[in-house]
Formats: sequence, structure tokens, C-alpha cells
Amino acid sequence: MKNITVIGAGTMGNGIAHVFAMKNFNVTLVDISQAALDKALATIGKNLDRMIKKERITEAEKTATLHNIQTNTSLESESVKNADLVVEAATERVDLKLNIFKQLDEVCQPSTILASNTSSISITKIAAATNRPDKVIGMHFMNPVPVMKLVEVINGYATSKTTTDTIIEMSKTLGKVPVPANDYPGFVANRILMPMINEAIISLHEGVAGVAEIDTVMKLGMAHPMGPLQLADFIGLDVCLSILNVLQNGFGNPKYAPCPLLVNMVTAGKLGRKSGEGFYSYTHGTKDWVVAESFA
Ligand code: NAD
Repeated sequence: MKNITVIGAGTMGNGIAHVFAMKNFNVTLVDISQAALDKALATIGKNLDRMIKKERITEAEKTATLHNIQTNTSLESESVKNADLVVEAATERVDLKLNIFKQLDEVCQPSTILASNTSSISITKIAAATNRPDKVIGMHFMNPVPVMKLVEVINGYATSKTTTDTIIEMSKTLGKVPVPANDYPGFVANRILMPMINEAIISLHEGVAGVAEIDTVMKLGMAHPMGPLQLADFIGLDVCLSILNVLQNGFGNPKYAPCPLLVNMVTAGKLGRKSGEGFYSYTHGTKDWVVAESFA
């Protein structure tokens, strides 16, 4: 495999393009928004600069990495047609992903593996939108991609062993640790993480403790590097809500019902770090967060 297409140049897409380009793959980063592509290249540049500062890469490696990435606003370009592997990291919406995979199935070579970085949408469902369900798989990177070691590799109902083995090998080539899982709502990571985050929000909602107290208990008591409320802010409260809805609908179990406070915050546009405020306020910059006024 040499040619990789990454669809979606947001938070995850730029990180995924970064790690493939660092390992000398030819990367085509595709987004419907030129602004998102420009921002992604700038972010990759900044992240590479940080690695130079830490003496983990050289200036020449930065240049080579950026040289390996081209951008495009069309799914129908020659480079997408020649992709050996496509990793889709577009917005978490079922209709949008089904459309993208249907289009990719028409555009790409029959041998191309189509992977999705979805946090919660069924791989089996995405695969059913194509004529190659055996070559559709979940490749679930964690945020921030250049730093986090895990790749959850999700087998859809029809994913072939060859496809799984190829993606496991590819994840290792990227310096990641692949962990296979089967296609059930939330896979492993979010099935376990989201109920914990939801419980932290319910504890806040019921007045058991405040934001800082809940996060401190989990950081110092459970040795978590970040408290669940801060983590929710980093993931995006809208993303957390959408995953909890997938878990609740997928299992039909009320234990996954999202806390009404989370629903209210998302409705009010308090989405966490990306909107400037969630459980914490980020208006002073991400390293200088404080508990948001409404929870102080
Ligand atoms: P994001 O909102 O930061 O970026 C999504 C990008 O997709 C945007 O730039 C948007 O313009 C683009 N896009 C939308 N429709 C498109 C289309 N038809 N073709 C090409 N590009 C299109 O989202 P994100 O946080 O990077 O999430 C992307 C995926 O990764 C989602 O499936 C999400 O569930 C998953 N994920 C997110 C995280 C996280 O922490 N944010 C972690 C793991 C997995």
C-alpha cells in the first residue's frame, strides 16, 4: 500500500493524514471545505514544529512529511481513484457517511479497502451501502492522533479476515497498537467511556459534587490523566450526546439515556472546547481553562 486518501480534514482527519505522511505514504486529504483543508495543513505544520522542538524529528522530516500530503475538494480526483486505502473521518452523521461510502465504492478500484474512523456508527451499516462489504472496516483512531497509541479495529459483519489483517498490519506500520473488536454499538472504547462521562454529568446534575471536585476525584483517585468532564469538553459535548444516543437506541437500554443536563448544554451551543465553553471555559486559551461560570 502506498496511496492513502483521508476524507474529512477536521480534528481527526488532519491527525490521520499527519501519521500516514510521517511514514512516507502518499496522502490525499479531501474535504468539502477549502478552509478546513487550509486549517488542517496549518495544524499539521504546527504539530510537526512541536515535534522538532522536542527533538523527535528534524526540519528535513517535517518538509518531507508536508511534501507527502496533497489536498482536494473532490471525491472524484485521480488520487482518490488510485487510493489503496481510504480512511473516512468526516462529520459523524449516518446519512453523510452512507453517501460518502456509496460514492467511494463507485470511484475507487475494486481492491481498495474503505475504512471509517466513526466513533459509533455501525460498520455493518456503512458496509451495506457498498458492493464490497468484505473490504469495509472500522479504523478508530484516538484524539490527538499523532500522540495516542490505540487504533480500535472494528470488524463489520461481512469484513474479511484479509481486510482485518491488512489494517492491523497497517496500524502497526504507523507505530500504533491495534486492538480488534466486533461491530456493536460504541465498540469497546465508547461503550465503556461514555457511560462513565454520562455518570459524571449526572453526579454534577444531582449536586453530588462540583465540576472541579468530580474531575479531581477521578484524576487523583483513579489515576486518570484527565477528569471525565474535562474529557467530555475535549471530545465535544455534541459528540458525547450523539454516541450516548447510539448506545441507547442500539441496546434499547435506559441505562445509556443521556443526562438532561448534557442535552440542555448541547441545545444551548455549549459544546466544550471547540465552542469556547462546556463544563470549563476556554476563552483564556486551552491551557488556561477555568470552571465555566454556570458551574462555578
Ligand atoms: P470535525 O467536525 O472536526 O471534522 C469533520 C470534517 O468533515 C469537517 O472538516 C467537514 O468539512 C468534513 N466533511 C463533512 N462532510 C464531508 C464530505 N461529504 N466530504 C468530505 N469532508 C466532509 O470532526 P472530527 O472530530 O474530526 O470527527 C471525524 C470523525 O472521527 C467522526 O466520525 C467522529 O465520530 C470520529 N472521531 C472523533 C474523535 C474526536 O475526539 N473528535 C475521536 C475518534 C473518532
